[in-house]
Amino acid sequence: MEKIECKNLHKEFKGDGTSTVALNNINLSFQKGEFTAIIGPSGSGKSTLLSLIGTLDKPSNGTLTYDREEILKKGKNKIADFRFKEIGFIFQQFHLLPTLTALENVLTPLFARKVPYTKIERAKEVLKQVGLTDKLDSLPSQLSGGQQQRVAIARAIVHKPSWLLADEPTGNLDTETGERIYELLKELNELEGCGVLFVTHDPVLAAKASRIITMKDGVVLSDKEGVSS
Ligand code: ADP
Ligand code: ADP
Repeated sequence: MEKIECKNLHKEFKGDGTSTVALNNINLSFQKGEFTAIIGPSGSGKSTLLSLIGTLDKPSNGTLTYDREEILKKGKNKIADFRFKEIGFIFQQFHLLPTLTALENVLTPLFARKVPYTKIERAKEVLKQVGLTDKLDSLPSQLSGGQQQRVAIARAIVHKPSWLLADEPTGNLDTETGERIYELLKELNELEGCGVLFVTHDPVLAAKASRIITMKDGVVLSDKEGVSS
């Protein structure tokens, strides 16, 4: 998948008697291979944008197209297949399963679907890629925060997605570890060509991206090229 386009993307959350506009008619397009930082204050709609792009939720209005196809108009199974094939997610809280080893955590997405390669070899390969060859049998509790995030990244890329969506992937890490995770994402972007969209509060990390989108109150305030573009 080469291109994601958001047209007049609108998302409103309705509660009892209340409603919040999380995204207010957003127009953006993303090209595979880009490395984009999304910044902006808390509540500006960054996470909502990522979850819509990742097909975890649906817009109230507007369209999202993936190589011109409106995946969200399809049935649940088709959407899940699409998500599995094209998207990898990384979160601030690593969301690893605590009773499974690093290798088993990375294997989980492969068991959810039939995949045409040897699962264990593939899982070991990505754990090597993120520098954790010697931690295959460790439980999350035996790993540092940075190592846990590496396992989560390995799990996000094990099925070779075209896009990696990261919601504050360095938010739970100290500055130096955060920078190393950032470098790893950058490397995956350059070597594997996957598009990376990452939300961050860290202006130093954002400044290193090839594109920087600033959001506020559900709208895009600015959309600029970064230093590494
Ligand atoms: P950010 O990621 O920039 O902090 P969010 O996308 O999480 O912003 O939130 C944007 C707005 O939408 C906020 O006002 C938030 O409270 C609201 N919001 C987000 N998710 C929900 C939800 N599931 N239900 C109700 N309101 C929500
Ligand atoms: P079948 O022909 O038995 O239906 P496929 O091999 O075409 O099976 O695909 C089965 C499932 O595996 C699909 O949901 C598809 O999304 C997923 N899949 C296929 N190829 C890959 C791949 N290279 N990486 C990750 N998932 C894949």
